Amino acid sequence: MLYKEFKDGIRLSRLGMGNMRLPQTEEPGNPIDYKKAKEIIDQAVRLGVNYFDTAYIYHNGKSEEFVGKALADYPRDSFYVADKFNFQAQPDYRVQFQEQLNRLNMDYIDFYLLHGIQDNFASEILSSGCIEYFDRLKKEGKIRYFGFSFHGNEDNMRKMLAAYPWDFVQIQLNYYDWEYGNQRKLYEMLTEAQIPVMVMEPVHGGLLARLNEKAGKLLKEADPDASLASWAMRWIMSLDNVQVVLSGMGDLAQVIDNAETFSIGKYVSDTEKELLKKAAALLRPDIAVPCTGCRYCCPDCPQGLDIPTLLAAYNDAKADAAWRLVNVTGLPREKQPSHCISCGSCTEHCPQSLPVPGIMAEMAKMMSEL
Ligand code: SF4
Ligand code: SF4
Repeated sequence: MLYKEFKDGIRLSRLGMGNMRLPQTEEPGNPIDYKKAKEIIDQAVRLGVNYFDTAYIYHNGKSEEFVGKALADYPRDSFYVADKFNFQAQPDYRVQFQEQLNRLNMDYIDFYLLHGIQDNFASEILSSGCIEYFDRLKKEGKIRYFGFSFHGNEDNMRKMLAAYPWDFVQIQLNYYDWEYGNQRKLYEMLTEAQIPVMVMEPVHGGLLARLNEKAGKLLKEADPDASLASWAMRWIMSLDNVQVVLSGMGDLAQVIDNAETFSIGKYVSDTEKELLKKAAALLRPDIAVPCTGCRYCCPDCPQGLDIPTLLAAYNDAKADAAWRLVNVTGLPREKQPSHCISCGSCTEHCPQSLPVPGIMAEMAKMMSEL
């Protein structure tokens, strides 16, 4: 495993383990499959990963508890835990932080972040008093490094950067969004401010690990042995100001593939960068909705719709044909797009403000015509 010095002599593995897509059982509520998920953590540790990322809302609040339990087998100073304050889920920052320590069964958190700052609540969180409170906790040693994760625009990034001397910032970054999102600008702002970047969504929620036929063929021809995900990982690794690349690994094969990529340290050449630019351009026409599958929209959907799964089916239908929605017709009626009541809560919680209600209405219409 490759490591990169952060500060204070701390060396973080270039690959970090995200704990939001852990294997789940079929039992009601789909709890984390502890045995399988623990194997993933153990494998990651064996392969040198020392950065483990969780959050208050992942797996309906159970990810933190899992991470604490799974890492309890290892000396506390052999790994780093990143956890996040979710303003929307529990605005009382004192209560939430204490609950997080309890869930983790730890007395400090190494890397603490304000979770997923979006344009619609950036000002509110800045004036909430939480930054001052967490800064106090940092001085008391309950938080070692303080940062935020971000899904907003450049104006709000500027406001955030002016508010506090952050130790690090986490943004979504991958070769697709570099070309078609605002991530390149955000990365440049952070680099200029000399703030290390933690990367989330390196494969855009799995999209860049699958690609479409044309883009996949291009990369396979260039290197038949390389996995599609490894291209995305190598691209990010090549950016100088990137500290840790997080991957929400849900099975052992992913851990092994990613760990290999981050052990070899093969950076992308200028020619390969051009190739990835081409792959992104070939992929673009097939992405109707750039949903990353983060599920931030799900807990507050009053109809309990599995929004990312429905959007994935919509993308398939748009890329191919409406018949691809046939799997959606097999869902219980109350889980189908026609049951969306257009409340807009999903768009409000979506880091990309995706227009989900309109898409649900379009899907319902497409399905009625199948
Ligand atoms: S708009 Fe529809 S999909 Fe979105 S939260 Fe409301 S009911 Fe759910
Ligand atoms: S619609 Fe938005 S919030 Fe919901 S899973 Fe997709 S990207 Fe995440």
